[in-house]
Amino acid sequence: MLLTLEPSANVRDIQGRLRGLGLWTEVLTSGDTAAIKVCQRSPPVDPDVLRRVPGVAAVFEQTSPHPRVDKQANCAARIAGRTLGIDIQLIAGPCSAEDESQVHAAAEIAARHGAAMLRGGAFKPRTSPYSFAGRGQEALGWLRDAADDHELLLVTEVMSERHVESVARVADMLQVGSRNMQNFALLRAIGQAKLPVMLKRGRAATLDEWLQAGEHLLHAGSETVVFCERGVAGVDASTRNMIDLGGVAMLKHTFGQPVIVDPSHAAGRRDLVAPLVRAALAVGADAVMVECHPDPSVALSDGAQALDNAAMSSVGDAVAKHRPPPRRRTGQEPHLAAVC
Ligand code: PEP
Ligand code: MN
Repeated sequence: MLLTLEPSANVRDIQGRLRGLGLWTEVLTSGDTAAIKVCQRSPPVDPDVLRRVPGVAAVFEQTSPHPRVDKQANCAARIAGRTLGIDIQLIAGPCSAEDESQVHAAAEIAARHGAAMLRGGAFKPRTSPYSFAGRGQEALGWLRDAADDHELLLVTEVMSERHVESVARVADMLQVGSRNMQNFALLRAIGQAKLPVMLKRGRAATLDEWLQAGEHLLHAGSETVVFCERGVAGVDASTRNMIDLGGVAMLKHTFGQPVIVDPSHAAGRRDLVAPLVRAALAVGADAVMVECHPDPSVALSDGAQALDNAAMSSVGDAVAKHRPPPRRRTGQEPHLAAVC
């Protein structure tokens, strides 16, 4: 929103009043005239409240840079007939689909500890060209079969426009990896599959850039976009990435968006995954996604952060304690947002 001011207005006083309403503002000046912009990240406010602030001449409601994202606010995200945050609170699986038996064993661990969705990459983005980059198309079949055997949904990454169709044939939700958050050609191609998408946050992306990347997907046709925080570039290498739980709270509570937190890629080490799961759920994440492996010591990627069966049980317990699944649906569950 943009506020124009009366000629005699005291800009500082007005800014103070707006700050008192919890709003973030920016003063715009041109010659002798000033206006105040209410930043997008502010909590929602009734424009009439602003019109009554002494010194405000007029309030102009600006159009949002992400109207389609705004439209999905406070709506339950549905994925293959299930509701994120209700039926789906835990997503688990290996970093990479390595071979058929590893995928099945990881799916079994995921299901045993309450996961509703299997994760795992057939196509892996790797920093080094010499690192294991996934088994490709063949692994998609292993992932689908393992998910079906354990009544799990499936999320897996699409790295290239060329693979959208084949991944969309097997996945219930398409994953856009952190490194591709602003690969707009890929987002357009993924949108055309018209499936739910889990959009991971770029390692150095602002919340606004992330929301606008979501807008690209919805504009291109995606059914729904779920935002996944996986940590951003930090100042301390003790953890792999710095988990932005403030950003998660803002996406959930200010923007009303469906949010998943991936503590595995944030921490980079398995001992911190369960505490971060609890923290993520406490600030409002609808679900968490973690990496697990039947034998992390031989994992071909991200072994240090992979949970084995024993470590998965503390994650499963944390999720179950946070929000036990309702026994019988009444439609009145307080956390069940409207299905829009
Ligand atoms: C992943 O989830 O497999 C992955 C590669 O994560 P990110 O894109 O967050 O690095
Ligand atoms: Mn990984």
